[in-house]
Amino acid sequence: MNPVSYERAADVEQAVRMAQQPGARFIGGGTNLLDLMKGGVETPQRLIDISRLPLAAITELPQGGVRIGALARNSDTANHALIRQRYPLLTQAFLSGASPQLRNMATVGGNLMQRTRCYYFYDTAFDMCNKRKPGSGCAAKEGHNRIHAILGASEHCIATNPSDMNVALAALDAVVRVRGADGERAIPIADFHTLPGDTPQRDTTLRPGELILGVDLPPPLFADHAHYLKVRDRASYAFALVSVAAALQMDNGVVRQARIALGGVAHKPWRATAAEALLVGKPLDDALLRQCATAALAGARAYEHNGFKITLAQRAITRAVRIAGQTA
Ligand code: SF4
Repeated sequence: MNPVSYERAADVEQAVRMAQQPGARFIGGGTNLLDLMKGGVETPQRLIDISRLPLAAITELPQGGVRIGALARNSDTANHALIRQRYPLLTQAFLSGASPQLRNMATVGGNLMQRTRCYYFYDTAFDMCNKRKPGSGCAAKEGHNRIHAILGASEHCIATNPSDMNVALAALDAVVRVRGADGERAIPIADFHTLPGDTPQRDTTLRPGELILGVDLPPPLFADHAHYLKVRDRASYAFALVSVAAALQMDNGVVRQARIALGGVAHKPWRATAAEALLVGKPLDDALLRQCATAALAGARAYEHNGFKITLAQRAITRAVRIAGQTA
């Protein structure tokens, strides 16, 4: 058993100050961190409870964007009128994740920080896991890798990001606002999560002691044509084998703008920018959808048990983009 101290932060400034101490971790909803601590995967020395900070509001920004506080609960965010009306893609992604009980507790900031569900990462009986124990090796590469990455992996780690919310945020070009000892900064979602490279122990570009304040969504462009498709082993309370966030701007049946982000396939939400570019200026038809799906998976690499994900992702893209094009 590892001793851990508990402190409650009275305000954001105090939380950031407390987080400068070695071994400190913020705790909000705790739906992931407490599991990791119980399993001995994470061993913080200090827990800084931020759950009572005033960071749960969901408010309008100028030009129609929306600011979501880091402590907004997943359920509240999914069902908020501003999100439902302007970003239905995000509502769909939230409601496809976890269970109602977990969504009632989990926060947007915690969802951004959710760690991979790689079996070997969670099971400390396995010595080999570069993410948990840098330099120890990757048990999944030669082990059971059905749920693992097919894009952007490295020889050091083939884990995937498990969040549905992150995939929708990637398609929507959200911006993460953070506060550290040196002040506030804004991180585009594309730069927030990392690929494993040779530092698989890192999941994000957050600096030590930085607190997530919230997420800004740009003015809504895709409220009429968006679809989140999640493919999983059972109908609820399961992580995505593959998911697709598809968002289109349509004009008389022609695609004006396209966003496609994939979940369950990489260490971070995977934006399929080449596939998006193929769609622009064209009407959606079967041949174009097939081309788009092929382009999105260019460069995919399968391991022993997850080759099925390449075809699955291509079919999911075709379906999600087609449905997005139809909605109005
Ligand atoms: Fe660890 Fe990553 Fe390999 Fe899983 S895939 S065992 S998290 S190094």
